[in-house]
Amino acid sequence: MRTEKCPAGHNQVGLVEVRHEIEFRGEKLTICAPSNKCRECGIEFASIEQTAVAQKTIADAYREKVGLLTAQEIRDGRTKLGMTQAELAKNINVGIASVKRWEGVQIQTKAMDNALRHAFCQIEIGNPYTGNREFSPARTKLVLKKFQEVLGKPFLVPGDKMLFDAKYSFYADMLAFSTTGQSMTGAAYAALPHGPQLNNYAELVDLIRDSNEEEAEPLSEVEIRIIQRVASTFPDKRAVYDASHEEVVWQEKPAGKLIPYTDASRLTQI
Ligand SMILES: [Zn+2]
Repeated sequence: MRTEKCPAGHNQVGLVEVRHEIEFRGEKLTICAPSNKCRECGIEFASIEQTAVAQKTIADAYREKVGLLTAQEIRDGRTKLGMTQAELAKNINVGIASVKRWEGVQIQTKAMDNALRHAFCQIEIGNPYTGNREFSPARTKLVLKKFQEVLGKPFLVPGDKMLFDAKYSFYADMLAFSTTGQSMTGAAYAALPHGPQLNNYAELVDLIRDSNEEEAEPLSEVEIRIIQRVASTFPDKRAVYDASHEEVVWQEKPAGKLIPYTDASRLTQI
């Protein structure tokens, strides 16, 4: 039994699901929403909370019917991207209040719905800075160990900040992205004064060195061939370092700016 009393003062009030046939913005909708029902006189009455739920249900039924994203779909799309409401709002040039309302009962316009879908779809196509792969320290180590094996030179030397190592993984990642649509390591590369380097490398170097490469997804044949090609093009560390400084995609970027994987098609040294 609910604690509410019915409008006639009876105490025997229960919770019921009520089916409503309604017309909303010219669309006939059928929704079910919770309500209270008096067992004594039979009257149905909704609390403020129940009315809010009903309004949300109506808004979503309408959105579904006319092909707009529902509140839940907007919320899901946003959280999948790892964005806050403020970040999504900024991404599509609206105020945060709009995003909050759309994730509630306010119905977005068709134009705004398109903007939302566009924002969400960019994420599905992939993140241009990680090359459609989640960054994996273990896989980064696996790639560098493969270079070590192919070149017969030490990689991940203690104390070394990957100044040269990162140039090899940069080329391997970029070529993998342009060949397979996915980077090998998921690393983001920044244009730093000494060439392309893992973004936040200072924090990542130890993480990579301490990771267990056997836990990483094994390299595919295509990836191994790419590593062999990069290694044969740049047989020593000086060569890969110098080549990376010839790349326009690095030269053109202000220091610290990320080099998107879509720049892979503009590499000139390999
Ligand atoms: Zn009653």
